[in-house]
Amino acid sequence: MPLLARSVMAPLAIEVRRGAVADLGAILSDGRISAGGDVAVVVGPGQGEKIAELIRPTLGSADFFTANGATLDGANELGAKLAARSYDAVVGIGGGKTVDVAKYAAMRRGLPMVSVATALANDGIASPVASLISDGIKGSYGVHIPIAVIVDLDFVESGSNRHNRAGIGDVINNISALADWELAREVRGEPVDGLAASLARAGAEAVLHHPGDMTDDGFVTVLAEGLISSGLAMAVCGTSRPASGGCHEIMHAIDALFPGTGSHGELAGLGALFCTFLRGDEQRLAQMSACLSRHCLPRTPADLGLTDDQFVQAVEFAPRTRPDRYTIIEHLDLSPDEVRAKLAEYTRAVAG
Ligand SMILES: [Zn+2]
Repeated sequence: MPLLARSVMAPLAIEVRRGAVADLGAILSDGRISAGGDVAVVVGPGQGEKIAELIRPTLGSADFFTANGATLDGANELGAKLAARSYDAVVGIGGGKTVDVAKYAAMRRGLPMVSVATALANDGIASPVASLISDGIKGSYGVHIPIAVIVDLDFVESGSNRHNRAGIGDVINNISALADWELAREVRGEPVDGLAASLARAGAEAVLHHPGDMTDDGFVTVLAEGLISSGLAMAVCGTSRPASGGCHEIMHAIDALFPGTGSHGELAGLGALFCTFLRGDEQRLAQMSACLSRHCLPRTPADLGLTDDQFVQAVEFAPRTRPDRYTIIEHLDLSPDEVRAKLAEYTRAVAG
């Protein structure tokens, strides 16, 4: 039989709604993931008890584990504990860190992983990547895409607004990441996967142009779905390319040089805006700047408490964070003085 289409690993169930955590048992049995609730549930140290109380009635046979931080050692330790008995799946419930630990531990045991996001800080909720710290350095580890992705809007709403808003930066940066990918195709002949690109772009455009904010269920749903589409886009092409370009190189560089400056999504949004300026795309710059401003996200280094010199250092360091990736930063190959001059123009353009 000729190969007429490709097969893509994708989650069996995607649920974005209120009350999803309390309905977890039904979602897992309806989705043929676990009929009897024999799952390992991984929760974070903060909301862990509250979540465990909510789901115990529907998941009577579950064992509970607590993830402390997102370290590779912690994820390996959890993986070893999961060998004690057989589970249908590993359920990671929480913000990005807990989900990342659960993803990695599940992959180590060869178990399917269910991602239950209680925050919308970044696209890790559905991506085949776990961001974990090893020897003090944050690394991205390839894992299986979650078998189910569940976003509980009740938890999202009760979480930190700043934390959740950051996800907006991590979705709209796809516009910049895709422009970098197309540049790599033109200059280096790198193949662009059209299906991955369309998934990544659709989510970003939806968030970019939606007039609502984090108090509006309609907008929060579009944001959650945009983050999920980004994860699917990565799974389709097997790289983070559709959602990570110069924007993420700048984010990783700031994280490495000036730890604690901002969250993943805040930094990636700023990085995307600066890369869009470097590309000379005025229309996109205006759209993205308006979106970040509307949602009170940082647009300049000063908004994050960084000096211009620190930002210039980060842009210089950026290509080293992803040596194989060709983006507008590698393409222009600006000297520190040229970056400084561009930054001054950029700050005027964004403020104006
Ligand atoms: Zn990201």
